[in-house]
Amino acid sequence: MVTEENWKLLEELALSSGASAVKRVDVTKVKRGQWPRMKCQYGCAQYGNSLCCPPYTPTLSEMNRFLDEYKDGLLVQYSMPYPKEKGLDWQQFDIDITNGLHQVLLKVEKAAMMKNYYKAFALKAGRCRLCKVCNLKKCIHPEEARPSLEACGIDVFALAKDNGFDAGIFTGIVDKVSVYGMVLIE
Ligand code: SF4
Repeated sequence: MVTEENWKLLEELALSSGASAVKRVDVTKVKRGQWPRMKCQYGCAQYGNSLCCPPYTPTLSEMNRFLDEYKDGLLVQYSMPYPKEKGLDWQQFDIDITNGLHQVLLKVEKAAMMKNYYKAFALKAGRCRLCKVCNLKKCIHPEEARPSLEACGIDVFALAKDNGFDAGIFTGIVDKVSVYGMVLIE
């Protein structure tokens, strides 16, 4: 059970580290299913290219058992302005936003552990972007690499919407791009 004082500490840390918003989540109510993993396998060009994504991540039943061991989570939103300039390097944009979120999550995870919530574990967004190309034989940064929410079968759009965020598929130009991760805490 996270105390109010520690929730505030973790929320403030996330926000001061670059998060655009945070929300406390009841993990038992997070919607999950088989379909996010099917979307990874059929439709994502990165399937099989990252140790933090299927098929390298634990099976869905293992992930379900893992999530069932938590009750609390801190949902973290990380946003960057939608880049409007022509000829933008989208690869670099993706690296910046993914790793920006990743670093916030790791800081919150570490801070929670230092407060003796030793089960704290960060789940990030999308494939791991810590290396230019994932070394599929053995992780180069095992102390930092974490699986994605999708790899756990979590419905990320529902997770965001159920917690008050305006998430959805882009159908045109938007003002900002947001990605989401969650630190599981117990
Ligand atoms: S840290 Fe590097 S090697 Fe490890 S999962 Fe991420 S991209 Fe792959």
